[in-house]
Amino acid sequence: MAREKRILVVNDDGLHGEGLAPLREALAPLGKVTAIVPERERSAASHCLTLHKPLRLKPHGPGLYAINGTPADCARIGVLHLMRSGVDLVVSGINRGHNMGSDVIYSGTVAAASEAAMLGVPAVAVSQGLKGGKGDYRAAAAFAVRVAQRLLKGPKRPVLLNVNVPALPPESVKGWKTVRLGERLYDQNVAVRRDPRGDHYFWMAGRWVRGRDLPGTDISAVRAGYISVTPLALDPTDVAALPKVAAWRF
Ligand code: MN
Repeated sequence: MAREKRILVVNDDGLHGEGLAPLREALAPLGKVTAIVPERERSAASHCLTLHKPLRLKPHGPGLYAINGTPADCARIGVLHLMRSGVDLVVSGINRGHNMGSDVIYSGTVAAASEAAMLGVPAVAVSQGLKGGKGDYRAAAAFAVRVAQRLLKGPKRPVLLNVNVPALPPESVKGWKTVRLGERLYDQNVAVRRDPRGDHYFWMAGRWVRGRDLPGTDISAVRAGYISVTPLALDPTDVAALPKVAAWRF
């Protein structure tokens, strides 16, 4: 008999992230599910690693642990320590809000999955769109199961997928599309205020304004009611620019 599959769940919304329980419950029938998440929300933590203070792993019930670290820390502690006898798949999420286009640069959800992929474990990041600030995680949880079932079959080499689910009830989701990253446009305002002592402080709103609706991208697929699936590379080299830069005289 094949041994039970071992799945590591991580996130960046932390222990109280609302997408955590739906994901753990949905994946449970596939094998042994262990979750390690930050003890507080670390959204937009990107690929930050905690190198200069001790990390503590605290159990919070069966198969659930929190650490005083980042999403990428969770993936490392999970793969290299807690599940060192073997991890078949890492699922990151379900994030509260999309991670499309250039969001993947900032996203802790995507970083946790990419850290796992860098450690040689197939990984998928799953993010759910919000409507009026609320998330319906049913479609995302169901699709995470389908992706997990597929990734558990192989390939054995590292694979990293980024999945975004539209803010729709499951029956209204039209299907899924494999697409490239789109372009997110952010609010570029930095708010400057004065604190009670008269000193300036800054508040980076970083609010997403709109996405360019380019065909074949995650943004356009999600806007049209489809789940987007984007394979991500771990090597950001701009291969097309290599010969051009090689010809420059520095
Ligand atoms: Mn988040």
